[in-house]
Amino acid sequence: MDREDSMNPNTLENYWMPFTANRDFKADPRMVVSAEGMYYTSEDGRQIMDGSAGLWCANAGHSHPLIVEAISSTAKTLDFAPMFNFGHPEAFRLAAQLATLFPDPLNRIFFANSGSEAVDTALKISLAYHKARGKAGKTRFIGRERGYHGVGFGGISVGGIVANRKQFNTHLPGVDHMRHTHDPDRNRFTRGAVSHGAELADDLERLVALHGAETIAAVIVEPVAGSTGVLPPPQGYLERLREIATKHDILLIFDEVITGFGRLGRATASEYFGVTPDLITFAKGVTSGTIPMGGVAAAQFIYDAVVENSETPIELFHGYTYSAHPVATAAALATLRAYTEEGMFENAANLEQAWGDAFHALKDAAYVTDIRTIGLVAGVELASRDGAPGARAYEVMKRAWAKGLMVRVTGDIIALSPPLILSEADIGFMTDTLRGVLAETA
Ligand code: PMP
Repeated sequence: MDREDSMNPNTLENYWMPFTANRDFKADPRMVVSAEGMYYTSEDGRQIMDGSAGLWCANAGHSHPLIVEAISSTAKTLDFAPMFNFGHPEAFRLAAQLATLFPDPLNRIFFANSGSEAVDTALKISLAYHKARGKAGKTRFIGRERGYHGVGFGGISVGGIVANRKQFNTHLPGVDHMRHTHDPDRNRFTRGAVSHGAELADDLERLVALHGAETIAAVIVEPVAGSTGVLPPPQGYLERLREIATKHDILLIFDEVITGFGRLGRATASEYFGVTPDLITFAKGVTSGTIPMGGVAAAQFIYDAVVENSETPIELFHGYTYSAHPVATAAALATLRAYTEEGMFENAANLEQAWGDAFHALKDAAYVTDIRTIGLVAGVELASRDGAPGARAYEVMKRAWAKGLMVRVTGDIIALSPPLILSEADIGFMTDTLRGVLAETA
């Protein structure tokens, strides 16, 4: 490419897009140029309702004035702060606020910059914890089929999305997977936790029997699997996992990158389901997606074991240049304030019923084979087009965009997870648009 071309802002050639059909996108790009509240504005000037909170993250709605102000004023006063042996007070203030938000005893907060980094951090803390207690043999991890835990090597290893794994051929050793909990024969058109499948938690017991508890460090699950198509847990499943993990001294990690910060009408899924893990990973909603930030909330006893048994002045050899970046920290503090002052989690909780009613009314729309709702999340599963899995949902996504609605697709599933500021009228727009698009696709 010559220099003149590279200066041309219209070229689409150079950006290698993530998790995108690059060739198809460049033939028919969908670009957004601004955002406010529930809406994006497309490059051609249309208002697009954000049915997916960006990528499950813009929980406070777009361009929230409190958050925008916090970001811009902090960028002017403290553009960066090194956190290795130095600090900035707001990072400690944010950690203290998050400690009150996460269930007890999860009150030690480690900051990263994304969900993937949060997952790697939680896995490494688990290893450090066991080692600090003289149990260095506990190194195996247990994940689950259809789990998504980001794209680091730790995350793809414990994760269970086939496509994300098989292109790379090598993973962390010593990882096993429990079966996923999706059973459309027994659970279909469901709201909230599903009725059948709690016994699948016994997969953990079977893996303990196979390898020995003395080899297993941690088990990681999403309380509600998001990226693989909205799979709420069976009633009693998380409780059972908790029991088995405790019995065998295995740490239980909830990956709450999606479910945290109001997605289910509560601060966390742990609170929603009444089950407390030992570690929670978070990202996305902590800053409402405005500035990258992620992290781990660890139980006090984990921190104590690692810190008190440390033989070196530095207790945990782990951290990121941008851990608790001042601008991200400010964004997070303002986001938490917006959530609280404007009762956004409460709004989400109050709308759960209307949300479920509206989506389940799509039951008879063309191609719909299943609908699952929980909190402010909906998964609408479509019959595969012969020989082209995912093609129909992809077409629905494109047609919805043309009609002013942004949705996520994953395989044959359309996933919705709007900003928590939405109204009943917004829900109506989303389901009416989808109904029309499905009819048109037929
Ligand atoms: N864990 C879960 C449950 C997620 O949904 C995601 C992202 N969708 C991640 C981890 C990875 O987060 P990130 O893309 O910020 O690395």
